[in-house]
Amino acid sequence: MEIVNTVKAVRNQVKEWKMSGLSVGFVPTMGFLHEGHQSLIQRAVEECDRVVVSIFVNPMQFGPAEDLDSYPRDLAADAKLCEETGANLVFHPDVEEMYTDSFCSFVDMNGLTKELCGKTRPIHFRGVCTVVNKLFNIVTPDKAFFGQKDAQQLAVIRRMVKDLNMDIQIVGCPIVREADGLAKSSRNTYLNEKERKAALILSKTIFLGQKLVKAGVKDAGELLRKMTVNIETEPLAKIDYVQAVSMETIENAAQIGPDVLVAMAVYIGKTRLIDNFIVEE
Ligand code: AMP
Repeated sequence: MEIVNTVKAVRNQVKEWKMSGLSVGFVPTMGFLHEGHQSLIQRAVEECDRVVVSIFVNPMQFGPAEDLDSYPRDLAADAKLCEETGANLVFHPDVEEMYTDSFCSFVDMNGLTKELCGKTRPIHFRGVCTVVNKLFNIVTPDKAFFGQKDAQQLAVIRRMVKDLNMDIQIVGCPIVREADGLAKSSRNTYLNEKERKAALILSKTIFLGQKLVKAGVKDAGELLRKMTVNIETEPLAKIDYVQAVSMETIENAAQIGPDVLVAMAVYIGKTRLIDNFIVEE
């Protein structure tokens, strides 16, 4: 497995693979990789002949008061995980390689970004769409793999690919959790021992929501009220949002039914965590 820092090096390698008729899978990440990322790489290895993983903490998707500077990084451990999982190439550019001084082009989206994380993170999805667009143009993959952990991001990327006629198949992958239920996240490292315990309120509330839906709750208001009350039992938790939306449009849903995304963002101390489930048929 090779680690490269330049756009040119990625292009040369991918060109060579494509000339040999090999398919290319792509997993974009911000690094500090865990089993959630690993499940995406595994899936890509299963479905594609060659796999590229990008590791880039994208400044454009962080707001001014967010955790860009403190975001955890560990390239050596990431490279080991990528290699062991079967990735063929890691693209680890620096900020200057991705954004020249004169950079002034953006990919923005009008719909899908008003609710959920878009409310508290108004510039986030513009940064995500722009960097994913750039990465897609650099890697030119056949398939790209995204986690349902960031369900709104998955919906936004699917829409961008559809609207802009990108010839890339987007594969959504299930949420990987710790043994006790907490969704794996690079940001879990911010939690102290007490907060780590308190953070379980997110997954517990997700499981409660799934149980209520299974038991036949159809009214979104009722479901969200019960989930909210449950989160409020945890003194360290402060709710950012608990919402039910259409997975396709990210607009509020009044009724619970197939393809409704039930999503939450909750602060545990200073750390903002997200979790969700998608209602099945
Ligand atoms: P990030 O490094 O946080 O930008 O995440 C890179 C990719 O990994 C995104 O597609 C995430 O949705 C996905 N991912 C992060 N955590 C998990 C998880 N616990 N389970 C599945 N996918 C995940």
